[in-house]
Amino acid sequence: MKYLFVTGGVVSSLGKGIISSSIGKLLQSRGYTITIQKFDPYINIDPGTLNPYEHGECYVTEDGMETDLDLGHYERFTNIRTTRGNSVTTGRIYRSVIEKERRGDYLGKTIQVVPHITDEIKRRIRREDDPNKYDFIITEIGGTIGDIESMPFLEAIRQMRWENPGDTVCIHLTYIPYLKAAGELKTKPTQHSVKEMQGLGIQPDILVLRTEQHLDEGLLHKVASFCNVDRDCVVQSEDLPSIYEVPIAMQNQGLDAAILRKLGLTIGEKPALESWRNFLSRRDAATKSVRIALVGKYQLQDAYKSISESLHHAGVYNDRKVEIIFVNTEFLTKENVEEKLSGMDGAVICPGFGQRGTEGKIVAAEYCRTHDMPTLGICYGMQMMVVEFARNVLGYADANSAEIAPDTMHNVIDMMEEQKAITQMGGTMRLGAYPCRLKEGSLAYAIYGKADIMERHRHRYEFNNAFRDAFEKAGMKCTGVNPDADLVEIVEIPGMRWYVATQFHPEYQSTVLHPHPLFLSFIKAAVETSDGK
Ligand code: GLN
Repeated sequence: MKYLFVTGGVVSSLGKGIISSSIGKLLQSRGYTITIQKFDPYINIDPGTLNPYEHGECYVTEDGMETDLDLGHYERFTNIRTTRGNSVTTGRIYRSVIEKERRGDYLGKTIQVVPHITDEIKRRIRREDDPNKYDFIITEIGGTIGDIESMPFLEAIRQMRWENPGDTVCIHLTYIPYLKAAGELKTKPTQHSVKEMQGLGIQPDILVLRTEQHLDEGLLHKVASFCNVDRDCVVQSEDLPSIYEVPIAMQNQGLDAAILRKLGLTIGEKPALESWRNFLSRRDAATKSVRIALVGKYQLQDAYKSISESLHHAGVYNDRKVEIIFVNTEFLTKENVEEKLSGMDGAVICPGFGQRGTEGKIVAAEYCRTHDMPTLGICYGMQMMVVEFARNVLGYADANSAEIAPDTMHNVIDMMEEQKAITQMGGTMRLGAYPCRLKEGSLAYAIYGKADIMERHRHRYEFNNAFRDAFEKAGMKCTGVNPDADLVEIVEIPGMRWYVATQFHPEYQSTVLHPHPLFLSFIKAAVETSDGK
């Protein structure tokens, strides 16, 4: 097994996740098996309890781990399925070391950061609990070099490189700022960041320079010589029209070849990346666009990352550009909903938690339902579409989710029995993949083309089965149900253009080469709506 480490310097948000995913993609296309994991230096056990404003969306793995959104990129680029082992935080490392200490596993020793914490980090980098074997394990270290919190991770990497010098490659991502007033690109921050790593005993093998301007040969040569790195191991990552161009740009500069060379592996032919290139050219060929409202409360690009990526994937396969217009539900009212939504070809009513913005979601759902707008509701979005239907069609004026109104008579969305006893917030929702059976003859069935599907979940509340008959009779059909627990997973209104809502999160399963059928069908309906206007 070979180990690749991806670290970042100078500033955060350079796109380590995209570079790690691109490397994974390029190695896979050469026939290697890979996995990609993220080690985050913060103390939270997982990002599940983090506000999306802090770290963007929380991604959920099949086995029910709440993770950093970078795992979404790993899956979307490479089609691998990540698991709990692919997302590790300082909090988890310390927790397992402390549990071992309490059990007496350390036989009276003093427990220290080095070697106990670093040993636990190394154990997890090597994935000692994973029965699968990979040619490459790519480990992305969150945060920026120089942070106090990342020290134990870097020390673990230093030790692993010392123990297995021929089996590791360290790829360091840094930033080359352009100073407008001086008209110059500056390499000093990169030099400092590399020096900082050298001080920790790690000489990066490869540097990826993030830049907003093209870097010329002279600059690349200078960085190589000042940072003690081979010239062909310095590549640039310029701003590109889309993240999906990055693997091609990295391949063109020989990043994958440099990794193989460092490890003494045969380099061979450059893979053609045919299906990937087809995706890109189909995307570039699309001239018309389709306008999709993203109806939610988090005004932040990364908060709905997987949903917007899924919409873009589906757009490409429908030969359209998807123009996403964020509609902030906190300020959405009956008075302005027409103005906000009438120009749209479709709407996604987004997941979320808590009361803020929920009335806006209900207003949006009513508008979409009464204007026959293609609408996809996801999780909280589905729950609010159900509440809207209960209020305006079934006539239960006080209908609500118990999350918002715990004492309402018409709690059409209610807490699951097994959730009621839970007092801890972290990691206790219904999480990960569960089966769902689709009703024959429904739109959902036609979309998936089969009865049994698996989709990932992240919620505490459920459609309340006590009201199921009333909904069915009035025209909102429960067309997807968990076969074991009889929980409603999908509702739809037949006869409308496309009005489907899911308790699960389909967006976690859409990838570049395997776009999700629900998103494909939703965008198709939006395209037809747009063409008919
Ligand atoms: N707040 C809702 C619940 O817990 C929906 C969660 C979500 O949208 N992910 O059930």
